[in-house]
Amino acid sequence: MAIHKPVLAKEILEYLNPKPNENFVDCTVGEGGHAEAILEKTGPVGKLLGIDLDPRQIEKCKLQLAQFGERVILVNDSYINLKEIIERKSFGQVHGILLDSGMSSAQLEGTQKGFSFKLDQGLDMRYNDETGYLTAEKIVNEWPESEIEKILKEYGEEKFSKKIAKNIAEQRKQGRIKTTFELIEIIKDATPSIYWNRKIHYATKTFQALRIAVNDELNNLEKVLPTAVSILPSGGKIVIISFHSLEDRIVKNFLKKSGLKILTKKPVIASGREIKINPRSRSAKLRAGIKIYRYAKKL
Ligand code: SAH
Repeated sequence: MAIHKPVLAKEILEYLNPKPNENFVDCTVGEGGHAEAILEKTGPVGKLLGIDLDPRQIEKCKLQLAQFGERVILVNDSYINLKEIIERKSFGQVHGILLDSGMSSAQLEGTQKGFSFKLDQGLDMRYNDETGYLTAEKIVNEWPESEIEKILKEYGEEKFSKKIAKNIAEQRKQGRIKTTFELIEIIKDATPSIYWNRKIHYATKTFQALRIAVNDELNNLEKVLPTAVSILPSGGKIVIISFHSLEDRIVKNFLKKSGLKILTKKPVIASGREIKINPRSRSAKLRAGIKIYRYAKKL
């Protein structure tokens, strides 16, 4: 299984600039890679609030960050509840906020949720079974063909969205489509054979689109950004990493109207060297802002 390497870790430290005894929130703490890098800079008493929707990620993170003891507070919840979580935990002053969207390589292959087209599993794709009612199986079997086409096109930027959606609609007449491998066969049939042996697997975009739709990822991002900024004091920083052009557009537009001082004129991307050792960084885009009262507008 791939070991999780935090994306753009050096750049995150540069923009968040964590100092001794400062407090940070990691909205998507994952396996704690970024959190660890921050905590190393914020001793002896700086705290980190780590949120993750996936309970399995929180369990991993507990081990990963055990060395920091009470400086770490982990919460299994959605970051859209950020404000309430901070109040509930009496977290106090926040100096900076990090959000690294999407999913980690461990979730891709280390769970039974059907995130990966390499493993034959049920079509689920929820980060959290308790909060999510929608599954990939439900979308594929119950949504109208036109809606499936739309998400494949918009969230997946899939060239063959129309044909794939049509094939799905045809195939489900024979019985429910239940597994990743069943879906892959359907995608393969809808894709010209020259795409079958490309470096990027022909099912990648469909799987990405389904995951984004199941977890309502774009809406969540849109909701959390104003909340996050409202929590920051003057001088507080926010760093967001996204992996999808629609996400990056949401972040870019938000920063423009947020009243924050934008620290990244252009999105920061991973170096060729990082991309080689960490494939997840391939499409990563980092944007950052700082709240300065002079600039702060009411959101
Ligand atoms: N920065 C982390 C990796 C983050 S991967 C590290 O260094 O280890 C992205 C994480 O976001 C995943 O663990 C996923 O479960 C989580 N996630 C996705 N949607 C979320 C949401 N709405 N609220 C909280 N966490 C979420």
